[in-house]
Amino acid sequence: MAPLSSPSCDVLVIGGGPGGTALSAELAARGLSVRQVAPHPPRPFPATYGAWLGELPAWAQGCAEQVWTDVRVYTGSPVTPLGQPYALLDNAALLRTLRGRADWTWTQGRAMHAERRGTGWTVGGESGAVWHARLIVDASGHGALVSSVRFPGGPALQTAYGVVARFRRPPVTPGSMVWMDYRTPAPELRRGEATFLYAMHLGADRYFVEETSLIARPAPTRDELRRRLLARLDAQGTPPRGIESEEWVAFPMNAQAPAPGPVLAYGAAAGRVHPVSGFQVAGALADAPGVADAVTAALRRSEDSLGDDAAAAGWAALWPPERRAAREVHLLGVGALLGLDRSTLPHFFRTFFDLPPREWTAFLHPGTDAGSLARTMLRVFAQTGGRVRLPLARAALAHPAVSSRALAAAAGLKV
Ligand SMILES: Cc1cc2nc3c(=O)[nH]c(=O)nc-3n(C[C@H](O)[C@H](O)[C@H](O)COP(=O)(O)OP(=O)(O)OC[C@H]3O[C@@H](n4cnc5c(N)ncnc54)[C@H](O)[C@@H]3O)c2cc1C
Repeated sequence: MAPLSSPSCDVLVIGGGPGGTALSAELAARGLSVRQVAPHPPRPFPATYGAWLGELPAWAQGCAEQVWTDVRVYTGSPVTPLGQPYALLDNAALLRTLRGRADWTWTQGRAMHAERRGTGWTVGGESGAVWHARLIVDASGHGALVSSVRFPGGPALQTAYGVVARFRRPPVTPGSMVWMDYRTPAPELRRGEATFLYAMHLGADRYFVEETSLIARPAPTRDELRRRLLARLDAQGTPPRGIESEEWVAFPMNAQAPAPGPVLAYGAAAGRVHPVSGFQVAGALADAPGVADAVTAALRRSEDSLGDDAAAAGWAALWPPERRAAREVHLLGVGALLGLDRSTLPHFFRTFFDLPPREWTAFLHPGTDAGSLARTMLRVFAQTGGRVRLPLARAALAHPAVSSRALAAAAGLKV
């Protein structure tokens, strides 16, 4: 049977998550012809997305389902109020808003392979579909279909098991959002990996509660996290009485900045997951206009050629040298986190959240430069106790790409 060939477009975006959809919207809004290919029709993104309100572009703040100003961390001291508003995204509103920005084609299908042919790219889909485009964007998520994201030492995963449920007694303070609760009310929580509770009061007797392993290699399994969550809730005297939905989270955190190639990547496929928090969505929404500007200008400059210039321009906008340097510092932080055991991790975060809010928020922000990140890391190192300092020092020395000398240099210290 002859392949089902579709007319060529400027850009073919593979993936229907928040990354691919945000970039498709911005490219189409600039007048490019865009085809977005995903195995499903447009549908609200299935995961529970949280973000610091201040990291969301202004228009996306309007897509928040709920915003908490009472945001808490428990790391040993009674409670640390974070004082930064935190948002739960309304994924249906987010999709609607993005889709309302411009017109582009959404094609249901699964991209299987891509090759350069003649003056453009040919992408083959399942069931023999064929699509042509000048530029391809791989926004296929953590599995990264075309782009090659590398994870030094192997992928270190964030895993979490969560439920939306009704409770007779509130599992966390009503009206609050708990970003991290490292307390261990049940014996199960005092063994194995250190995991914490991430929770949101959704109104009335509904709460989202999630047992989370921030980053680990190997990572705790779904069953283990489920057991831990239920044990925690039982030990608190707050078992769920009706579970509405479950969520399983598992994705790699320690991506290196990918080498630019002829296929542009975006979102998780471009290694843009924040290596310390695991956040990506706010950054993808914020970056899309700049990347779309760069790609559009390059495609307009060279009407006839392959989209190589556009891919290069997109990579440069997404991963400029200063972001690459910042990623190396963040990966040093990942090495440190992986080196901390269950008794020291909460101490590390206590010191971290005791820093002035502008410092820890900057450390978690996707756009912070390497020097500021390095200064914050050194400040944590200086202020934390000896139990945490030793593994931090070991991580710095073991890191393949950033020596402690380079870290100090990035922080502007004499070495
Ligand atoms: C359960 C969960 C909760 C998370 N919570 C948060 C959070 O609170 N805040 C935050 O910032 N980040 C969070 N993350 C991390 C990250 O931001 C998300 O994984 C985010 O969905 C990544 O967006 P994306 O668009 O890059 O990829 P994805 O959302 O993974 O989308 C990938 C898309 O590509 C499609 N696809 C895959 N293969 C193909 C193919 N061959 N052809 C065509 N399409 C294909 C998929 O069907 C999907 O539509 C979470 C991750 C998970 C898994």
